[in-house]
Amino acid sequence: MKKCVFFDRDGIINKSPGPGYVERWADFHLMPEIPGILKLVKNYGYEAVVVTNQRGVATGVMTLAALEEIHGNLQKQLDEDHHLALCDILYCVHGEGECECRKPKPGMLLEAAKRHNIDLKLSWMIGDNEKDVEAGRRAGCRTILVAAGKPVTKADYFVPDMKSLELLLRRVLEEGNAQSGKGKAGRGKE
Ligand SMILES: [Mg+2]
Repeated sequence: MKKCVFFDRDGIINKSPGPGYVERWADFHLMPEIPGILKLVKNYGYEAVVVTNQRGVATGVMTLAALEEIHGNLQKQLDEDHHLALCDILYCVHGEGECECRKPKPGMLLEAAKRHNIDLKLSWMIGDNEKDVEAGRRAGCRTILVAAGKPVTKADYFVPDMKSLELLLRRVLEEGNAQSGKGKAGRGKE
């Protein structure tokens, strides 16, 4: 089975749009640390999957086609500029209480695990909101919250920013591989 690092999208993969939504590609700004983090994840033998709530589709603020275009462009940019690929991008376009996939429910992680044969107990969920932590915990993953200050959180780890996330990931993925004795083959290769 595969191991995976699940990433929330807005605020982790790309700069947070604030209270609204990223409605078009021109407003999607990749976090500068993400290519390095994705390389790290890959080199330690983990898949990278994005799981994102996008209720703006349910409320009519944006179209499903616009959302899919953003995700297509994200994969293209990662490929062309960094030779990287996300294993999958799962999104929930439903409103509150309408589905089993909207975080803090774990539905998207469970679906990804089924699709890609992922062992959730060996996997991680990273987000900037306690809903991400909750979804990760309910799926059986270990969790990291990226939030400034002193957040009240059930996450296994929290870090104040993306630079610190990269350092933490390097440490915990290294430790995880040392314990399981697997996944070392790709290390150090670029
Ligand atoms: Mg977020």
